[in-house]
Amino acid sequence: MTSTGAVIWFTGLSGAGKTTLARALEVCLYEAGHRVEHLDGDAVREHLSKGLGFSREDRDTNVRRIGFVANLLAKHGVIVLVSAISPYRATRQEVLSQAPRKLEVFVDAPLEVLTQRDVKGLYAKALRGEIPQFTGISDPYEPPLLPDVHLRTDQQSLQECLEVLLQAAERIGIRTRVRA
Ligand code: ADP
Repeated sequence: MTSTGAVIWFTGLSGAGKTTLARALEVCLYEAGHRVEHLDGDAVREHLSKGLGFSREDRDTNVRRIGFVANLLAKHGVIVLVSAISPYRATRQEVLSQAPRKLEVFVDAPLEVLTQRDVKGLYAKALRGEIPQFTGISDPYEPPLLPDVHLRTDQQSLQECLEVLLQAAERIGIRTRVRA
């Protein structure tokens, strides 16, 4: 099957569901015959962006590095799934404007839900003031104004979100296995 290169960029607060959804979509697209790569923010910070901090400048550098690699792979027919908080609107737009095809996916849930989920135990720490510059608590997050996909993970199940993502992928010309 001919693969269509694209960047599917998941942005949102910690614990919103970016990694979970990107992994689920990765499996579907792989099974549909595409070449797929997943660049996860946490993993990138261990390697490509090791040593960067959480100032605006460092966060932007991190996003630009991810964007550079994602766009490079996409040019060669890979579907690249990026899951990274990527809090600044202008920087997301800058990197996504260079993608051959793109979807900006806003993974959204209210802060109260995220603090209850607290998947990584970080919100409790941030609320105690132990993590300076924690996005959504003590650091800004600029939601997309016109995302290609807006998911509310407190209202839609993982499967429902996945269906919406598969339909959005189809809209930009990526063949998927459409589920009933
Ligand atoms: P992020 O990558 O945004 O930091 P994670 O994917 O690591 O977030 O964690 C999201 C958590 O929310 C997981 O424990 C996941 O099971 C849960 N969750 C609940 N509903 C959904 C949903 N509809 N989509 C994605 N994740 C969900």
